[in-house]
Amino acid sequence: MHDVIILGSGPAGLTAAIYTARANLHPLVIEGQLPGGQLTQTTMVENYPGFPSGIMGPDLMDAMRSQAEHFGAQFVSGNATAVRFNQKPFQVHANDQVYEARSVIVATGASTKMLGLQNEWALLGRGVSTCATCDGFFFRDKKVVVVGGGDSALEEAIFLTKFASHVLLVHRRNELRASRVMQDRAANNPKIGFAWNTVVVDVLDVTQNKVTGVMLKDVNTGEERLEACDGLFVAIGHKPNTDLFADQLELTNGYIAVKDRTQTSVPGVFVAGDVHDWQYRQAITSAASGCMAAMDCEKWLEKGEHN
Ligand code: NAP
Repeated sequence: MHDVIILGSGPAGLTAAIYTARANLHPLVIEGQLPGGQLTQTTMVENYPGFPSGIMGPDLMDAMRSQAEHFGAQFVSGNATAVRFNQKPFQVHANDQVYEARSVIVATGASTKMLGLQNEWALLGRGVSTCATCDGFFFRDKKVVVVGGGDSALEEAIFLTKFASHVLLVHRRNELRASRVMQDRAANNPKIGFAWNTVVVDVLDVTQNKVTGVMLKDVNTGEERLEACDGLFVAIGHKPNTDLFADQLELTNGYIAVKDRTQTSVPGVFVAGDVHDWQYRQAITSAASGCMAAMDCEKWLEKGEHN
């Protein structure tokens, strides 16, 4: 029987592991499908405080993991396949084993929706990005393409105009999904251009290990053209990793609903990071919420509420 099981090993899960380990709760971390989380898919992280010259995403996650291990956190690789939160102790199934715990911290994160292009993953962190806040700085005076027609895409496009010389927003329809205020802001920004009824069908150039352009296709005429650019920002939405919890925890728009600070709809099950946060989605905010969940969890156990 564990005091606490942490699901997920991104900044939220590992920070929760550091804090609960230092509180002598001997956390068991079930790492999930992408150990280290989304940051392991990025290159340089320049906005995480404490690293004036930046730090590579995978290095930051390795350091967080070592820190958690140093204080006694235990790790299980693999994915949780089922959870039972309607019984005490709670159960987590993973690797054909059943783990029992007095409390659980859910930090399974979110997955960025990708376009499904053959070269998209190969060029991720090499000109393909899913986060303008993280990577916009690298595109000073460069030309970038943003895909999507929702608030995220417009927010990314507007943010990128601080750096880029030109931003082309590529949308598959002739009407944006984004809120009116964002649409007006984008339309009035002289650096933003629009490619309507258009999809990206390829990103180049894997042989050069950097983005040199995208192949665009007009969905009405089928006509294809090469658009030269230095970056491709994919902003077609996120999917919170909540499939496992659909019948166990209350969700809001697919994200885990928060009832009281980091407490979910089930007392003793806490939440941290992108799996409940559609808005900020930063490494630092995830780490902070991991700390909060750990402290709430510790207090909850201390009060003996699990009995
Ligand atoms: P979203 O509203 O679901 O928009 C996704 C956009 O991507 C849509 O325009 C969609 O096209 C397009 N898309 C989806 N799959 C695609 C594909 N395979 N290929 C090409 N295009 C594709 O997602 P979001 O923009 O991330 O926003 C999510 C939620 O967060 C929304 O409620 C939004 O209002 C909110 N949000 C708010 C703010 C803000 O207030 N500042 C900022 C960001 C997000 P279609 O339109 O054709 O479906």
